[in-house]
Amino acid sequence: MEVLKIKKFDVAIIGAGPVGLFATSFAHLHGLKTITFDSLNEVGGQPKLLYPFKKIFDIPAFEQITGAALIDQLQKAVDQQSVFLLNHRVTKIEKEQNLFLIDEQYLVKSVIIATGTGSFKPKKFPLKLNAEAAQRVHYFVNDPASFSKQVIGVFGGGDSALDWALELAAQKQTTVKLVHRRNEFRGLESTVQKLKNLKNVEIITPYLPKTVAIRNNQLEIGLKQIGSQDIVQEQFNQIVVAYGFQADNSIARDWGIELVNQQIAVSAEMKTNVAGIYAIGDVVNYPGHVPVIGLGFGEAQIAVTSIIRNLFPEKVLTIHSTSI
Ligand SMILES: Cc1cc2nc3c(=O)[nH]c(=O)nc-3n(C[C@H](O)[C@H](O)[C@H](O)COP(=O)(O)OP(=O)(O)OC[C@H]3O[C@@H](n4cnc5c(N)ncnc54)[C@H](O)[C@@H]3O)c2cc1C
Repeated sequence: MEVLKIKKFDVAIIGAGPVGLFATSFAHLHGLKTITFDSLNEVGGQPKLLYPFKKIFDIPAFEQITGAALIDQLQKAVDQQSVFLLNHRVTKIEKEQNLFLIDEQYLVKSVIIATGTGSFKPKKFPLKLNAEAAQRVHYFVNDPASFSKQVIGVFGGGDSALDWALELAAQKQTTVKLVHRRNEFRGLESTVQKLKNLKNVEIITPYLPKTVAIRNNQLEIGLKQIGSQDIVQEQFNQIVVAYGFQADNSIARDWGIELVNQQIAVSAEMKTNVAGIYAIGDVVNYPGHVPVIGLGFGEAQIAVTSIIRNLFPEKVLTIHSTSI
């Protein structure tokens, strides 16, 4: 029988998205020994996987930065000594007296959960697709250039749909048709305005997809106008479905964590209901929470500071304030 060698750390950070990455570097800055897990084979979470090319305008101190460049910067700030375990989905957290045993091998004093939506499972296009049609339906855009010189449908009304529509419209000779079931979009107003001003973007609202077929080597989708029986046929070379992601953090329940709508309830110090386990970033739920990166960075600082106060009450934290 293989005997697992137990490895010890001050803090385990579960999830290496932008918020988990910043928590890692901030914890190191304060002398904590960390181990950071991610179920994917690379760090970076949503910005790296879902919108590496998108320009982000609301990261403090950057006028603008792409998703991929932001993750590069966060990685550069991470200390070389930090331990990362990629391709490792944390499944088990057990309490061992005052410590936590993670996946039977890693013994830690505190845990920070930064698992975002938990999994990258996209909500599916609601129509049955045959194999030929399915090839033309995408849930991620890895290479926007591969959509050039085509008519592309983007389905959805949130940030992802708007960002992908904008990115695809920037490709050579591409026409984008943005289809949403409401007249209003749930994204940045400035992006909506940019899209409205583009000649190669057509906004089709309020419509829902009802039928799908392959005709003349095109994906033909019947769109039903909300509130009427009218169906219009639209043809696309390919479509991108951006209906969002199915949040699944249910695994945290096995760790004794209280969930509210698939998210983790936290206190003002980012503490969960289990003493010693914290949560930060998109995974958390508290009144006024907004799922944005900048706020997640602040939550990381709150959680790490609280951990240091708990673990090392004798340690005097550096407080940068004119009030001392
Ligand atoms: C299209 C789009 C555009 C956006 N634009 C902006 C923007 O302009 N500005 C902004 O501030 N925000 C934006 N956001 C939101 C932003 O991406 C999120 O707020 C941010 O990614 C949250 O970071 P996170 O680290 O909490 O979670 P994520 O980025 O979701 O990372 C979570 C990580 O945890 C890992 N994980 C999950 N479960 C486990 C497990 N059990 N074990 C190990 N690892 C696990 C996942 O693999 C993932 O890597 C946008 C989001 C989208 C989809």
